[in-house]
Amino acid sequence: MQFWEKELETLQRKDLEKLQLERLRATLARASQSAYYGNLYKSKGIIPESIQSVDDIRKLPFTTKQDLRDNFPYGLLATDQQNVIRLHSSSGTTGNPTVVYHTKHDIDSWANLMARSLFAAGVRDTDVFQNICGYGLFTGGLGFQYGIERLGCLSIPAGAGNSLRQIKLMQDYGTTVAHAIPSYLGRLYDVFIENGLDPQRDTKLHTLVIGAEPHTEAQRRRIEDMFGVKAYNSFGLSEMNGPGVAFECTYQNGLHIWEDAFIVEIVNPDTLEPVPDGEVGELVMTTLDRHAMPVIRYRTRDLTRIIPGECSCGRVHRRLDRITGRTDDMFIIKGCNVFPMQVEGILMKASEVSSEYRIILETINDVDEMIVEVELNKDWSADFWKEYEAVAKRLVHEIRDEVLAKPIVKLVEPGSIPKSEGKAIRVIDKRTSTVEQVIVSCT
Ligand code: AMP
Ligand code: ZN
Repeated sequence: MQFWEKELETLQRKDLEKLQLERLRATLARASQSAYYGNLYKSKGIIPESIQSVDDIRKLPFTTKQDLRDNFPYGLLATDQQNVIRLHSSSGTTGNPTVVYHTKHDIDSWANLMARSLFAAGVRDTDVFQNICGYGLFTGGLGFQYGIERLGCLSIPAGAGNSLRQIKLMQDYGTTVAHAIPSYLGRLYDVFIENGLDPQRDTKLHTLVIGAEPHTEAQRRRIEDMFGVKAYNSFGLSEMNGPGVAFECTYQNGLHIWEDAFIVEIVNPDTLEPVPDGEVGELVMTTLDRHAMPVIRYRTRDLTRIIPGECSCGRVHRRLDRITGRTDDMFIIKGCNVFPMQVEGILMKASEVSSEYRIILETINDVDEMIVEVELNKDWSADFWKEYEAVAKRLVHEIRDEVLAKPIVKLVEPGSIPKSEGKAIRVIDKRTSTVEQVIVSCT
């Protein structure tokens, strides 16, 4: 097995924890230089010496997205602005954006984590890497770019969209690896087919890196089959740099979360108490190697679990399971708690439909309904309307069995669901009912 940084990736657990403790204390000292953490820790009497073991992190308060927003723009900055060389920020269409600052050291450390991640997924300096991702304030562009360059691939900073151009770039330069959000890849594939091209025959692609938005295992397998490649799951969030936080190795059995750079906790989102390995809860993360803006015990809202046991690749860093949803994307319909990924899991197993879907919540005749709209596959012609009915009925049953609420399933023509520019918008809530929903247990 080859590693990007063998020593750090295969440390003994106790040595890794020793390194985490050292870095956690240094992080605490740094964070205390910021106005926000400085005041908070002072008021609670927290000093680096309060931390005697990694588990002592539980003595520290959580940080939420709201804390970042409330202290916009510079409240969490822990160094002179002169030392800061870049910021990334969320779009901020509602309220203050969340902004994260980086020093030279931070960018360097991030590039290294990205290179390590890509190397673990089998990418090498001989690869031609096309980054199909927005460059700018979104972290997927520059975050990947620096990692690809650090690894030594020939990088193509293609940016997002313009599928015909993407295909041309792939063909002109013999792209072997590409990174894109999963919801875009189905559309890219359609453009290949519409132009009489087959990505398996007409490109040199062998690997796709997919991430930045939730997707199911079934969706990943579809992408792999369409392109004839291996597709690796990449997880990150801008508060923790962006991509390069957790990544699948070639075993594809969970995402190694780089524990020399982050402390990971999984907590029950209601009680905020830690849950045992293997149990799903909210991911809470702490930066260990960021100078400009350390973030401590950040509640990501992402739901996942630690996969117990060791990975056959030899990396000691624990593995996260794929994200099953966010505490804030769950919706309640007919008294049942539903995560969009549960619906996606059913749809992606149906060969008659494509990967394009959305869930509309709407009040019809005073009743709240869940309408699942999904595009048919291109090779399904409108002549088969009777079969459509059977397919829709089957999907209604399968979704109801999964989420316990009966949906309305609408099979729609290919290309008819509006596409968003960036990450896919899966749920549209148009409900008008003001009556508070009765929450009953559906498990
Ligand atoms: P942003 O900070 O805007 O890049 O968004 C980060 C969020 O995107 C995370 O907190 C997750 O909710 C989601 N996300 C990123 N990567 C993945 C992934 N591989 N699987 C599922 N969700 C992801
Ligand atoms: Zn592994």
